[in-house]
Amino acid sequence: PDSAAGELRAKLAGKLGVEAAQVFVGNGGDDVLSVLARTFLNEGEEVIVPAPTFSPYAHVSRIMGARVVTSPLREFRIDLEDIRARLTGRTKLIFLCSPNNPTGGIVPGRELVPFLEGLPPRAMVLLDEAYGDFVDDPEFPDAVALAGRFPLIVLRSFSKIYGLAGLRIGYGVGSGELIGYMDRVREPFNVNLLAQAAAAAALDDEGFRRRAIEAVREGRRSLYAAFKRLELAYVESQANFVFVRVGDGDAVFEALMRRGVIVRPGSVFGCPEWIRVTVGLPGEEERFLQELRRVLA
Ligand SMILES: *Cc1c(COP(=O)(O)O)cnc(C)c1O
Repeated sequence: PDSAAGELRAKLAGKLGVEAAQVFVGNGGDDVLSVLARTFLNEGEEVIVPAPTFSPYAHVSRIMGARVVTSPLREFRIDLEDIRARLTGRTKLIFLCSPNNPTGGIVPGRELVPFLEGLPPRAMVLLDEAYGDFVDDPEFPDAVALAGRFPLIVLRSFSKIYGLAGLRIGYGVGSGELIGYMDRVREPFNVNLLAQAAAAAALDDEGFRRRAIEAVREGRRSLYAAFKRLELAYVESQANFVFVRVGDGDAVFEALMRRGVIVRPGSVFGCPEWIRVTVGLPGEEERFLQELRRVLA
């Protein structure tokens, strides 16, 4: 494959209004995370990871010998005040997932900017926007613009909005300096040619992107309505999933799976009473709700 992912990189740079050298293309967002950790983390340094959140942040950090400091969510939101209190001279990387997987809340710009302004000298932030396309909250910051001003790398993926998860393609945006270090560490041919071509083509399909966003926003609203009718507590989400409290999350997960419906049990995130449900097509959602009602009964 094209080692530089030249066509895709140029296209992304054009869309985002940055230089091509500010875009790192990875074998899925997971590859961006793993190269990020390999590039910047040394043994004994600290990373801060909210809890619950996407589990690879802690994993890629531990592999590099970094110490993982966790910061509990407050009312299901990433708590930047708590994270700030955990910063030390050894803090190298702070992982922020916005919208957060599995809870779906965003980090608003009015909180993020002062946080970035107060970072200690050697610390940087990975802002994971794998679900950013689905956000309709006007407080969602223009993270790419912030990546030009602060030690910040923004992660995005073609797996969610474009449904290309099986091809493995994602990217990071940051300063040319930070991205340059990551480009020296990655495998030279980390992204296969089919994924590069598919991602470049996907960027041209604005109609598909808009339809997917609309379907997800509509699906979120109808899941909320159904959960209200079932009197189940849920967290309002800016992503393509909803976190909902069902009692015994593992039991509901198992029973749903036996009926052919796969959700994510909250226990893997340390929330055993919850499940995370991804928005599907309307027919799939009906099927899920029908089976959920039976399982809960
Ligand atoms: C899915 C996901 C990613 C990246 O997924 P890839 O398939 O590796 O591109 C990154 N972060 C979060 C929070 C995700 O849910």
